[in-house]
Amino acid sequence: MKVKTKHIKIFKEALKKENLKFTNQRFIVFETLVGNEGHFDCEDIIQMIRKNGRKASRATVYRTLDILVKYDLASKFVLDDGIARYEHQISRDFHDHMIDIETNDIIEFHSNKLEKLISEIAKESGYEVVKNIHQLFVKKIKK
Ligand SMILES: [Zn+2]
Repeated sequence: MKVKTKHIKIFKEALKKENLKFTNQRFIVFETLVGNEGHFDCEDIIQMIRKNGRKASRATVYRTLDILVKYDLASKFVLDDGIARYEHQISRDFHDHMIDIETNDIIEFHSNKLEKLISEIAKESGYEVVKNIHQLFVKKIKK
């Protein structure tokens, strides 16, 4: 998706709150993540930046991604391999992930049925759900 002015504004405000300057390198990281649909680890992001003939240090990429997560512009999840994947959250519907343990493919899904069930379970204990994250580790059913 194309980076919009209002999202740049949110990003600038986030940096300000962190006492960080809005730099070209930080903007490149932001633009690369928001401009691509998918789930990327830090190395993927670095590769994409390089492919476009641009530069951002590894430290800047890591730090900027964590700021995007902190301010809800991106989400982060860690798979069994211990490597964090990031995806931007701008104009995205909430969804969960299935991870194919044989191929490491990431499949997105959303189930209203599941959300409802979880709400009911929490409610039975006198709670309401504020956040829930599901990761299903799956493998293809062999036919
Ligand atoms: Zn996703």
